[in-house]
Amino acid sequence: MNRIELKDKNLFYIGGIVRDKILGRECFDIDITYIGNAIEFAKTIDNAEIIKINEPFGTVRIKLNGLEIDLASTRDEKYPRPGHLPEVTDIGCSLKKDVQRRDFTINTLAQSLETGEIIDYLGGLDDIKNKKIRILHDKSFIDDPTRIIRALKFSVRFRFELDKHTRKLQEEYLNNINYDMSYKRVKKELIETFNLNSQTAYERFFKENIYKLLTVENIKAPDYNIQTLIEKYPVKDIWLVYLGWMDLNKLPLTKRETKIINDYNYIKNEKFDEDYSIYKAFLNIEKESLLLYAINIDEKPVFRYLDYLSKIKLNITGKDLQKMNIPPSSKYSQCFEYLLKAKLNNPDIDEIKLAKEFFKL
Ligand code: ATP
Ligand code: MG
Repeated sequence: MNRIELKDKNLFYIGGIVRDKILGRECFDIDITYIGNAIEFAKTIDNAEIIKINEPFGTVRIKLNGLEIDLASTRDEKYPRPGHLPEVTDIGCSLKKDVQRRDFTINTLAQSLETGEIIDYLGGLDDIKNKKIRILHDKSFIDDPTRIIRALKFSVRFRFELDKHTRKLQEEYLNNINYDMSYKRVKKELIETFNLNSQTAYERFFKENIYKLLTVENIKAPDYNIQTLIEKYPVKDIWLVYLGWMDLNKLPLTKRETKIINDYNYIKNEKFDEDYSIYKAFLNIEKESLLLYAINIDEKPVFRYLDYLSKIKLNITGKDLQKMNIPPSSKYSQCFEYLLKAKLNNPDIDEIKLAKEFFKL
């Protein structure tokens, strides 16, 4: 793992990367922490180019031998507004203080870049061995309720269980939610959890009332194997296929995400009995919205469309009609509609021949 040619007694890999290494899993982001002020330290590294400094957080990005590395200062934090971003209180604190602000014991391990030694202040190694997800103190979910979704994410990803006390505190919090929280962070965790495409995550999200973070309503989720559906019909925004039918008003949504939800709401009250009406209704609708329709309303027209109808396209264009000396007019679209209906019935039709018939040529 040490592609990074950086050694100092105060430098430690921290959090996810140490956990993943022990689990033998690939890790995509490398977090390194410096006991002390990482920004000051970065300035002293030979041949390192400083790319970005975030003074209030004590973090710095450097480039060393062609590799970009993020260095964080050890820091302590407090939560003046529960559920919102914490405030940094002490940059350059001890490693122990730094790990105590984190979410679960499995994410508190540090490994020296110099010696490879693993520092385990809070029992993270045992919890990895026993496959347990355990918060660090009783107010953890109150400070940051997104940790409830993170717990689900790690639990599903690693097949770990929530420790009994952690589970109890989760239940307590979900019975008494403070809705004044950062929904930007909630959204990020929902995406990471549901994009794992896990039926287990979906079922637990509702069974354990984690969905209550999004709404005060009591909801019964559709009884449907969404994981299998997405395996068959892959989509970009998997998480919205799982959750797009719910009221997601609290979440900050992008244009595309809003379109997926609006498209679904637009088609959900419609019923389809023939290919042409399915085709017309589903054309230009996001695939995620169609899967939502399959899950919540009726899967038959969706499968018909995705497996077959969506592949049917007219080849003929306005140019072809012009070549037949037909002046452009609203008749063109009537002709295309006529041809499309015919082609949906029989994909082997001769479009030019049929167009000529349409115009009685
Ligand atoms: P992943 O493999 O998903 O990246 P990770 O453990 O690296 O998992 P990150 O979200 O990248 O998770 O965060 C890096 C580290 O920061 C975590 O290991 C954890 O120590 C800490 N952390 C992240 N989110 C929180 C949080 N909401 N509360 C407390 N500590 C957190
Ligand atoms: Mg990470």
